[in-house]
Amino acid sequence: MPLTSDQKRERQRLATQRWRKANPDRAKESKRVYNAANRKKLRASRKAYYAAHKEDEAKRNRLYRETHPEYDRLWQETHKESVRLRVRAYAIANPDVHRATMGRRRAQKLGAVATLTAAQWKAIVVAYKGRCAYCGKKPQKITQDHVLALARGGHHTAENVVPACMPCNFRKHTGLPPLIPPLRLLL
Ligand SMILES: [Zn+2]
Repeated sequence: MPLTSDQKRERQRLATQRWRKANPDRAKESKRVYNAANRKKLRASRKAYYAAHKEDEAKRNRLYRETHPEYDRLWQETHKESVRLRVRAYAIANPDVHRATMGRRRAQKLGAVATLTAAQWKAIVVAYKGRCAYCGKKPQKITQDHVLALARGGHHTAENVVPACMPCNFRKHTGLPPLIPPLRLLL
């Protein structure tokens, strides 16, 4: 019985595999030549594969970065411009998350425990119905206030941050007396 085209292809594949195994150096060289001649095609197919497996690939990349910190550092140092552009693009696309990251970094520099996320802050503002925790007014611009100031050893955590209007936040800044927000919620 003549072979079907599938069977022929499979036989060819196995023969190639055997040949590659028996001639590793020549196989490597022929692969290099093939890759060089098909760079555009290969890049397109890699790109398509990545697009179709975005989440898996992102997870794999993240895992690799975490297990190879020295490589990650090296990459960041040799790709400063693209890192900068990517950080900026992310900040523009996700202003709340970016602001939260910056807030944590600032608090960390002051030696505080800093875990407040953008989602937590949003939930806190919703819990306070958008009102200032001190005067109860609903300001146009709501700010984050540390009930126990960072300078006094307070933390940048959901337990220690309340929404405050600018005047109340500023009044607290100038120090006295240490206010406890009358609208304090148990989160
Ligand atoms: Zn206020």
